Amino acid sequence: MADFFDVTWASQGEFSAIVSCILENSNIKEQRYVFSKSVSFRAPSTRRIRIWLTAIVCGFLPLTACVKEITACPASGVTLQVLGSGGPIADDGRASSGYLVWVNGTSRFLIDAGGGVFLRFAEAGGSFSELDAIGISHFHADHSADLIALLKSGNFANRERSLPISGPAGDGPFPGLHDYLNSLLNKDTGAYAYLNGYLDGSGNLPKLEQTEIDPDTNKTVTVFSDADSDTRIYAMNVPHGIVPAIAYRIQIGDKSIVFASDQNGSSEAFLNFANDASVLVMHMPVPEDVSGVGRALHAPPSVIGKIAAKTNAEVLVLSHFMARSLNNFADNLAFVQSEFDGPVIVANDLDCIAVGN
Ligand SMILES: [Zn+2]
Repeated sequence: MADFFDVTWASQGEFSAIVSCILENSNIKEQRYVFSKSVSFRAPSTRRIRIWLTAIVCGFLPLTACVKEITACPASGVTLQVLGSGGPIADDGRASSGYLVWVNGTSRFLIDAGGGVFLRFAEAGGSFSELDAIGISHFHADHSADLIALLKSGNFANRERSLPISGPAGDGPFPGLHDYLNSLLNKDTGAYAYLNGYLDGSGNLPKLEQTEIDPDTNKTVTVFSDADSDTRIYAMNVPHGIVPAIAYRIQIGDKSIVFASDQNGSSEAFLNFANDASVLVMHMPVPEDVSGVGRALHAPPSVIGKIAAKTNAEVLVLSHFMARSLNNFADNLAFVQSEFDGPVIVANDLDCIAVGN
């Protein structure tokens, strides 16, 4: 049971706290909706049973711990876990952008750290010590605001090995990775100067090994490689209005996850970059009739579908929703599926999505 739960203690007689614990666990979201040509739903199963076991344990053993569930992905294979499926507005109960990639039960790669990802990382059971690399797609707050919170948390992890981190170079009003981290961590001017050791490895903090991706190129850059596990992470610039933004491809053996990031879908080079992905994650914050600035920033649903079809995605994951794309969602989904006839998963926070066979 320790694999599934973390622990908050309830003292004898605190029955109301125990009831709260049970109710809280019972409210955990269960649904994953998988849309393809036929629509299917994953019904509550073993997880629901675990929740009721929790209730029984809490009810009969008030002297022991009342437990809170961790949303555990499978302990084997490659799994994409959605940490945040929402956009920049705090109106839908979804965290902003964030994804965790599990490899045989190890939380190895984090892509994006928008608001709420700090909490979801914990709820997923992620480990700062296990992370092999972090990729930030761009420096809009909904993709990067919780990075410092995760670094602070990592301060308690007793991690010694350095941590690769990548992000865009700066342009116009947007900082690059180096300037962003410097604004937070510089020992003289940083807002969180007390965590300065992340820049140079001092103070028993792991050094952040930084890689900036030039916004002016469409070249693919390798930002991480590990021969032992046959793993590489590739990055390339994608068009997101005036905002330097990076797509990532994590390749583990013959399995691959492509994180398209926020983009307007106009890059031909991205089609090669994303080709034959086991899982293609596309962001859908806007509806089909988007125009103006919204269209300069984001791809509408039909363009998302075209990209998935052109790149021969094995599975398309839609994420990064906002109210404007969740309203009339069935219509927006239909626009995607008018172009792409493969399986489509609509992401919810903490979903676990198997990668490859
Ligand atoms: Zn965004």
